[in-house]
Amino acid sequence: MKRMVLFSGGVDSTALLLQELESGSDVLVVHLILKTETNRWQLEMVACARVIAELHARGYDFEYMDVTVDATAMGGGRDSWYYIQTAANIARNREDIIAVAVGFIDDEAEAIAFPQTINNTELFRGCKGTSCAELTYPLAGKTKKELIAKMGNLFECTFSCRVPVGIEPCGQCNTCKAIKEAL
Ligand SMILES: [Zn+2]
Repeated sequence: MKRMVLFSGGVDSTALLLQELESGSDVLVVHLILKTETNRWQLEMVACARVIAELHARGYDFEYMDVTVDATAMGGGRDSWYYIQTAANIARNREDIIAVAVGFIDDEAEAIAFPQTINNTELFRGCKGTSCAELTYPLAGKTKKELIAKMGNLFECTFSCRVPVGIEPCGQCNTCKAIKEAL
């Protein structure tokens, strides 16, 4: 039985993945390549490859899968909607997924919006397993400072900015600000 970890290559989902692996969970890592108007998805892909390589170097083993979705062709919308749709599609087609772990921490409005999205669409209804994959938020209540402190050199592998300038973080978006405050 596996826990699905939704993984973007950013600080939070990298911390989540590390925590799941440290606790000995059998993990399916799912990276959504979400193509939007910016080049963020390309920078996230690079970050994901770096994080995965570092985790392998640390001796962790896990199943990895990526799914490409072109959000520009679908009219944009919230990232969380695409993530949850992707997670549900996978969970529906596999009997070994018992939980979906999402790397939200308490200070993010997304943590509230995300379960509401699911309640509204009931995407997880019809999962193949004995019960529908449960959504979990293992980082709830933690701070970015705590997450970064535990990660060591994994932090340098991550990319979290929402609106990159070229290949650099913008330094201005909420995610950049939160990381700056945490450092
Ligand atoms: Zn930024």
